[in-house]
Amino acid sequence: MTTHIVCPSGLAGEIRGLKGKEGKLLSDRAAARAGAMFEKLLAGCWLTTSDPGIYDLPEGGAVDWSKVLVADRFYTLLQIRAQTFGNDYAFSVQCQSPGCRERFEWSLNLQALPVVPLSDAAKVAFKSGNRFETTLPRDGRKVWFRLMTGADEMRAASVLRGGRDGMLLTALALRICEIENVPDHERRKFLDELDMADAAALLDQFDQADAGVETAIEVECPACLGVQDVELPFERSFFLPTAKTARRTARAQ
Ligand SMILES: [Zn+2]
Repeated sequence: MTTHIVCPSGLAGEIRGLKGKEGKLLSDRAAARAGAMFEKLLAGCWLTTSDPGIYDLPEGGAVDWSKVLVADRFYTLLQIRAQTFGNDYAFSVQCQSPGCRERFEWSLNLQALPVVPLSDAAKVAFKSGNRFETTLPRDGRKVWFRLMTGADEMRAASVLRGGRDGMLLTALALRICEIENVPDHERRKFLDELDMADAAALLDQFDQADAGVETAIEVECPACLGVQDVELPFERSFFLPTAKTARRTARAQ
C-alpha cells in the first residue's frame, strides 16, 4: 500500500511504509547517531515524485534528501510512520510538576497536528539561493539567514555533539549566511557579544520563515490535572512501536 503526500513546501510524491530491512536499520545505533538513519528511511520509502515543488531534481532523478528542507523531511518521516503503524501515536510523559512526577501515557492522532505550509515569499527566497533577509532590532545591522536542510541538520547534530557552543549559539551560527559589515572570521566573536534581545529576535525570524509540523503539544497530567507543553518525542522509538501498537496495527489490517 502506498500514499500520496504533499509536503509543507509543495514537494509531492508517493510513499510506502517501513519494511523489515528498515527495521534492521532502526536497531543500528551507530547509524542513528550519525544521522544516516533518517536519510536511508527517506530514500527507501519515497517511491516517486509527482511535483518537485521548490527543488531542482535531475531529469527523472531521485530526491536528494540532504538538500531538502528539514520541515519537508520531518513531515515525510511522520507520514511514513503513520503509513506503517497508523495515525495513532502513543508515548510516555512524566509530569513536570515537582510535587507530582507522575508517569503517564499520552496518545494523539498524527494527522491532527497542525502543519504550516511554506509561504510564497519563503519559496522565492529558497529558490534564489536559500537567503532570507532581516534586521537586528537593537544593533540595526542586516542579517541573512537560511532555512535548515538535511545537510544542515547533520552538521547541527555533529556540532552539538562536540558540545562547544550550546544550543543557542549553534542554532544561530548554523543558520546565518552573512552579517552586514562583519567578516566571516569575526562572526563567532560578534555572536558572542550579541544582545540576547537581538538573538531572540533572530530566532523569531527563523521561526516565522520556517514551515512544518507543529510539534509543541499540550498534555494534561491525569494525577494532578496540571497542563503542560511537551515536544512531540521524535527518536528511534517513533518508528519502533510497542508490542501493543503492533497488535493494534495487525488487527486493523
Ligand atoms: Zn502531575
